Amino acid sequence: MKIDRTEDGPLVPEGPLAGGASAPVPVEATPNAQIVARFAHVDTWVFDLDNTLYPSDSDLWPKIDARITLFLAELFGLDAMSSRALQKYYYQRYGTTLNGLMLEYDISAARFLDFVHDIDRSSVEPNHSLAAAIAALPGRKLILTNGSREHALRTAQKLGLDHLFEDIFDIVAADLLPKPAQETYQRFFDKHEVEPSRAAMFEDIVINLLAPHARGMVTTLVVPKKGQVDHRESWEQPRVIPPHVDFTTDDLAGFLRRLQGTMQGTKLA
Ligand SMILES: [Mg+2]
Repeated sequence: MKIDRTEDGPLVPEGPLAGGASAPVPVEATPNAQIVARFAHVDTWVFDLDNTLYPSDSDLWPKIDARITLFLAELFGLDAMSSRALQKYYYQRYGTTLNGLMLEYDISAARFLDFVHDIDRSSVEPNHSLAAAIAALPGRKLILTNGSREHALRTAQKLGLDHLFEDIFDIVAADLLPKPAQETYQRFFDKHEVEPSRAAMFEDIVINLLAPHARGMVTTLVVPKKGQVDHRESWEQPRVIPPHVDFTTDDLAGFLRRLQGTMQGTKLA
């Protein structure tokens, strides 16, 4: 199956999906009324942070990734290669490296989070286009991240987005249980009084959209642009877009502008 990449539109899969599931309909070919039907009821807009609110070609995630490797190397006295292998083992088995460390070694979450998010953010520029697109969305906006609140806040500040969000639900608020755990989404819904059937979720990891879809959220997968580095593990990169993903895009700001334009155009019609 190939992925059709458009200038400013969402990515859409072409061809049949595994298991006989039908592909999401390309938004370009979708009548306005259908797009409005999917998003018009949304009053809460939920965004992942890393590799979603900033693009995959940012150097932020590689810096965090390297700090996690260093944390393990110093903790266990490992060489870089062994530390890296252990990191990826924990990530795949437990959802996050932190979760593995806590379950196996009772490591302090605060110590880990402070260390791995202690990075230089000077390369991050304000994203005025994304700020305008998010600001124009009708309703509340929230960040739901497996990282720390401090990291999300500092990164959002550098992106010029922090003033747009009502709150940040971080891994500590999640009682250190990372997405994609269903309990974490329920805790998030409860804390912020989110009605999932009136909410939309934007996220770069496919599996993290499973629970949102099951609860009735509109789901959008944010993917790297063609040629951009993809930080997702190989097993996280879907060969096909699964049915629990409603839309995909490699241009979040463009997608939100298009969505708004469609909704407004239909309302005016
Ligand atoms: Mg992410």
